[in-house]
Amino acid sequence: PVRVRFAPSPTGNLHVGGARTALFNYLFARSKGGKFVLRIEDTDLERSTRESEEAMLKDLSWLGLDWDEGPGVGGDYGPYRQSERNSLYKQYAENLHQSGHVYRCFCSNEELEKMKEDAKLKQLPPVYTGKWASARHEEVEEELAKGTPYTYRFRVPKGSLKINDLIRGEVSWNLDTLGDFVIMRSNGQPVYNFCVTVDDATMAISHVIRAEEHLPNTLRQALIYKALGFPMPYFAHVSLILAPDRSKLSKRHGATSVGQFREMGYLPEAMVNYLALLGWGDGTENEFFALDQLVEKFTIERVNKSGAIFDSTKLRWMNGQHLRARHSDELTKVIGEYWKTSGILTVSAGPFVDEAVQLLKDGIDLINDADKALANLLSYPLHSTLQSDEAEPLLQDNLSEFAASLVAAYDSGDLVAALEEGHTGWQKWVKGFGKSLKRKGKSLFMPLRVLLTGKLHGPDMGASVVLLYKAVTTVVVAPEAG
Ligand code: GLU
Repeated sequence: PVRVRFAPSPTGNLHVGGARTALFNYLFARSKGGKFVLRIEDTDLERSTRESEEAMLKDLSWLGLDWDEGPGVGGDYGPYRQSERNSLYKQYAENLHQSGHVYRCFCSNEELEKMKEDAKLKQLPPVYTGKWASARHEEVEEELAKGTPYTYRFRVPKGSLKINDLIRGEVSWNLDTLGDFVIMRSNGQPVYNFCVTVDDATMAISHVIRAEEHLPNTLRQALIYKALGFPMPYFAHVSLILAPDRSKLSKRHGATSVGQFREMGYLPEAMVNYLALLGWGDGTENEFFALDQLVEKFTIERVNKSGAIFDSTKLRWMNGQHLRARHSDELTKVIGEYWKTSGILTVSAGPFVDEAVQLLKDGIDLINDADKALANLLSYPLHSTLQSDEAEPLLQDNLSEFAASLVAAYDSGDLVAALEEGHTGWQKWVKGFGKSLKRKGKSLFMPLRVLLTGKLHGPDMGASVVLLYKAVTTVVVAPEAG
């Protein structure tokens, strides 16, 4: 049976890289009818916090990546926090000692330092060369009697090791440069790679899907796996997420944590869709996938082994697509509430909100853009507009007759009556107005837009003007916003 795990260290926020790893594991489990396990790797007690763990769980839930076993849901293979599994690590370390795969190493720090320096001088790999790998029984007993602290050191076999990575293909290592490594410190603390192996083995993990940067750990873990006598899982190492300049994605490139994107107004379905495309595609041009479609299409074979570029502009655009794909009632509700909360409108629902959302939604990629979009519509920045080169034809045009006719249309009540009727009224009026001035097309619409909205560009002019009319005649616009 397929059992995969996402194993975050709760030492900070869930980053896009971690979220993508979680997503690939989730998709793999769901597409294979397997289990998705969440394990908290909190062996680093100094840096791990409960707040971080809770925040990560919240982010995963927000993305919709629900886990079958783990914190909050339990399961048959618990506990699911490494800090609660110490007795298990101890037990397996003892087993490995019994079977001769690990030995007690009584070397002091000074001796170990000296070994490293000697190796450096001789330009040899910094492998353990101490005597405890082949010490006699009596020597060990002697140190034990003295109470000398010792570590458990793993006996690395000679030769080489290879794995068949599901993404990278064959990966092999020469074991001669590895050196015997510690799996349990002298204070009884198990070492990270050992914990991960014991956990993956005892949790019956079938596929280890994780970031490429863990490949060096895989070497040690695979050796421990063999020594423990557990069947080796399949490994799949996912490539790094890079910034557009191909450097490692980091804070200086902008938001990188899932929580930041949530606060900026991103939708979980857009995040999930975009994260899936970081190194995966279904082989067609299609880029739009809901979570259930991803489950249907996902295969590990299609995960790319080269680095994926994180393009926040594309994510933003994709968010806009998902935003508009939401049911329009729902979208109107969310945006209406946003306008009300941010104080730009006095109401959160009603015909004004409906029309405004319809008019503006194409220019909104994030809910948080909605404010600027409405404020921009309601404002009348005629001065700055007319500075631009594009206004040149307008400045050449003799608009005094035009403006006078517009004022007359307003004074006579014709324009207001048309606007009261809404869009059809407006269209009829525009036609008549154009005829009376013998203008049509650009020479009619450009001055009309500028004079009525104060701008050269904007969404559909008729709808904009009708909405502006409503804004000034109803009380939905907060006084300081309009
Ligand atoms: N705890 C590790 C991390 O946060 C993941 C280890 C693993 O997936 O094996 O990077």
